[in-house]
Amino acid sequence: MSATLPKIAVIGTGGTISGVGSDRLDLYEYGTSGRFMHVEELIATVPELARIATVVPVRYLNVGSGSIGPANWLELLGIIHATVEADPAIAGVVVTHGTATLEETAYFLNLTVKVAVPVVLVGAMRPSSALGADGGMNLLNGVRVAASPAARGMGVLVVLNDEINAARDVAKTSNYRLNTFVSRDFGMLGSADGDQVTFYRKPLRRAAPDTEFDVAGLAALPRVDIILAYGGADAVLVEAAVAAGALGLVSAGLPSGAPSPEQKLALQAAAKAGVVVVQSSRSGSGRVIDSKVALRDAGFLAADSLTPQKARILLMLALTVSRDPAVIRRIFAEY
Ligand code: ASP
Repeated sequence: MSATLPKIAVIGTGGTISGVGSDRLDLYEYGTSGRFMHVEELIATVPELARIATVVPVRYLNVGSGSIGPANWLELLGIIHATVEADPAIAGVVVTHGTATLEETAYFLNLTVKVAVPVVLVGAMRPSSALGADGGMNLLNGVRVAASPAARGMGVLVVLNDEINAARDVAKTSNYRLNTFVSRDFGMLGSADGDQVTFYRKPLRRAAPDTEFDVAGLAALPRVDIILAYGGADAVLVEAAVAAGALGLVSAGLPSGAPSPEQKLALQAAAKAGVVVVQSSRSGSGRVIDSKVALRDAGFLAADSLTPQKARILLMLALTVSRDPAVIRRIFAEY
């Protein structure tokens, strides 16, 4: 029977989904134990997976996702490519991941993966040892979505709480609720219900595998820092980021998208010196408009509807293509 089942690779990186607490009510201190199940152990907790797919475990990391950053993104991308290229029977890839930075890894992969099979990120809000743990169902649903022919051409997907969201649009919006992953402006793409995986919409922005970012040979990504705006914010953090070698800066601006007055002067000076400055908003939803007076005259680009952390990733990748603000403006309009 298994010969007819789709073959799905499951790459483990750690996170709450594989976390092990001290008892069933350890819902917030489990991370301090540092105990994570390896991906094959996690898979073994869901024997029902064998009914829907031949699951191929791939160990990568066993860490909380706060420890996952650009160097890991590049490694993970390499593992996804190597796994799919080594076995043409692989029909999809699932990555198990902590939820804290899950949306960042997902968006990076959404912009860089070059293989056509679905890539799906899953996590959990409760550790595997908890009463009411959600990771098993999220993993099962992630595998179902990765195995679904309808998931092809959707870009990288995030599946938790039975909901399928696009990597570009989704954000973790609550610290503890199971329905934390929400695409605030655009809504979910579909659902993984008990009977079937169903899609209702398709993202229009450019996404894997048809993107222009080829980072396979890179040892590191260009440095881009995020500068949060708040009442009374001065120039210190902007100047520190430039001194640290940032090639790009993302202002997480006061809604609808503006730095504080002192930050603005420092960001304008940075832009004049060749640092690419992108204006986003700290509000978590809504577009930043590419306004002539507020942005273009100051030498800033607009993040459109990307959150600051997503705008940072797109800017890092854009800087691997060009440092010309006109090229980067075009990239922010397309992705
Ligand atoms: N601290 C965890 C992590 O991101 C949170 C989670 O996985 O839900 O690794």
